[in-house]
Amino acid sequence: MKSGFVALVGRPNAGKSTLLNALLQQKVAIISPKPQTTRNQIRGIRTDEESQIIFVDTPGIHKPQHELGTQMNKEAFSAISGVDCIYLIIDGSVPFGGGDEFVLSILKDKKLPVFLILNKIDLMSKDKVMDSLLEWNKRYNFAEIFPISAKENTNVAELIEHTKNYMEDGIQYYPEDQVCDYPEQFIIAELIREKVLHLTDEEIPHSVAVVIERMGRKKGKLLVNALILVERDSQKGIIIGKQGSMIKEIGTQARKDIEGILGETIYLECFVRVEKDWRNRKSKLQQLGYIQIEVDDE
Ligand code: GDP
Ligand code: MG
Repeated sequence: MKSGFVALVGRPNAGKSTLLNALLQQKVAIISPKPQTTRNQIRGIRTDEESQIIFVDTPGIHKPQHELGTQMNKEAFSAISGVDCIYLIIDGSVPFGGGDEFVLSILKDKKLPVFLILNKIDLMSKDKVMDSLLEWNKRYNFAEIFPISAKENTNVAELIEHTKNYMEDGIQYYPEDQVCDYPEQFIIAELIREKVLHLTDEEIPHSVAVVIERMGRKKGKLLVNALILVERDSQKGIIIGKQGSMIKEIGTQARKDIEGILGETIYLECFVRVEKDWRNRKSKLQQLGYIQIEVDDE
């Protein structure tokens, strides 16, 4: 099996999330006419008989103008590290500008194959497409060049076929039926579980599970509801602690770590529930994707 990672980079609004959804033929990324909807990396996984390609959608790279912008650039840059190739997605309907220069200057250092993907050709005349491709081709030594429309699915299948040539013989990273991985939810759950185990010493068995029940945004802040699942009432008592002191400490320590990793303020609420057979229900929870992502932004 050929497998590997592809980073989707480009300026905000170029159509990265739309392309990700087209590549996967499913909606996993949030698309918005407003730039900067994609705050964190979303991995989309495309598996067929001969290949598994993992696409990493990133916030658009742009010249940072504020703290959040700098953070988003960091996430975009870190997504580029360790991939097998890069899709540079360009909005063909807007002219080349300083922002494009900035993105190209970053890619130059990476020494990875870069695909130029000229998107939104449905909005362009054939001549305009040709002119734009020639113009871009002068500025960088691209591995491949693809004019596409992510919205109308033009040339997307061809893009996938060519991408396979850049994958290596390797392992299957994800089960074939998994299409999406919001890495932040797993990180958050693991950090909370770590605090539970750490703060309660040996009293709580490792079978404790943490499920991110709800994650959403309100006015730009990330809200997280986490459910700590235990198997017995006595364990619930330990985790809650005297007058709630233990769960408060778990929440405080976990929140600090999560904020350190995500680089943003979060509101974390932890609940404990006795679930006698949670182990059996675990696969069900996994099927459900563990959580709902809700966006109520700006
Ligand atoms: P991102 O910021 O790069 O992730 O961009 P999005 O995928 O969120 O898309 C930004 C806007 O461009 C949305 O309004 C999309 O519907 C639109 N868009 C994306 N791809 C195409 C395309 O191929 N053609 C047209 N006409 N619009 C597109
Ligand atoms: Mg996006």
